[in-house]
Order: sequence, then structure tokens, then C-alpha cells
Amino acid sequence: MAKHYIDTQSLGRGPQRLAGQARVADLSRLVSDLPAQGDLVVDWSVAGRADSAGRNFVLVQAQGSVVLQCQRCMKPFEWPLDISNEVEVVATEAELELDDDDVEGPDRIFCEGRLDALGLVEDELILSVPYVPRHEVCPGNQPDAAPEDEPPAKRESPFAVLGSLKKP
Ligand SMILES: [Zn+2]
Repeated sequence: MAKHYIDTQSLGRGPQRLAGQARVADLSRLVSDLPAQGDLVVDWSVAGRADSAGRNFVLVQAQGSVVLQCQRCMKPFEWPLDISNEVEVVATEAELELDDDDVEGPDRIFCEGRLDALGLVEDELILSVPYVPRHEVCPGNQPDAAPEDEPPAKRESPFAVLGSLKKP
């Protein structure tokens, strides 16, 4: 895949913006544990700017969708991706560590020179995908689709389960 870079050392001379479209299947870190992605794409952009104090920021945006595997019914389903997050780019690791004391401020990333824009998009997408993805309602499992002559399955109370665990 072609590389796209923001030159963070020259942002003081003017903003830079990169944009493109990527095949989800090519985002290898994002999809390493995911089902086949087919021809899904994400539209992305990364816009870098410096503020009047000389601090550098990049706005990361992406829209598209990704195929996840529902952890309840194990069927694949499409999850919409829509991110927009501005992060501060710092040039020393010491500045990066300030992040812990500054919970109100933007996330910080460390980059001394060329910033891999698509790599940053992929990082943000990875953070936006749920760790345990699930359908809101799994297909074929809608409550109103239960046969009428069969009473709905009774859920065991979590307290009943606890009680049985306590028994020797
Ligand atoms: Zn499901």
C-alpha cells in the first residue's frame, strides 16, 4: 500500500491534509482477527495543523464499515465506522508522559518527523471497534419470533446461579 506522510516538523509553515480511500482488507492490523472483509472500504483523512503556541495537532477522520464476528451467535455482521478525533503530536517522549496528568486534553502521540497518516487512521479505527462485538439482536433470535405454542425460555436468575455455586 502506498504510504502517506504528514511532515510534522513543517506544520508551523502551514496546514497539511491527506485523504484517500483504503480497502479494509488491506488494514492488516485492524483485520488480523476479523472475518473476511470482501470489498469494504473506508474513506479517511488526516489534517495536520500547528496552533499559535507551536503545538502540532492532527485531526483523524474515517467513515466506512468493517465486518466483525458477533460473539453471541458467531455470525459476521457489518459494523459502521465513523471516527473523528484530534490528537496532539509531540516530538519528545517526555511530553508524551505528560498525558497522564492532563485527562482533559487531547490524546498525545509521539512523532519526531514524518507521521504515517494511514497508520494513524488504522490505530484510531482499532480503538473504535468494540472488544466484544455483538448484534443488538441476533438474527433469528428476535423475542417476537418465538413460536406461539412454546413458552419463552425462562432465564435463570443470576442469584440462583450464585446460590448453586455456593453449595459444596
Ligand atoms: Zn449475533
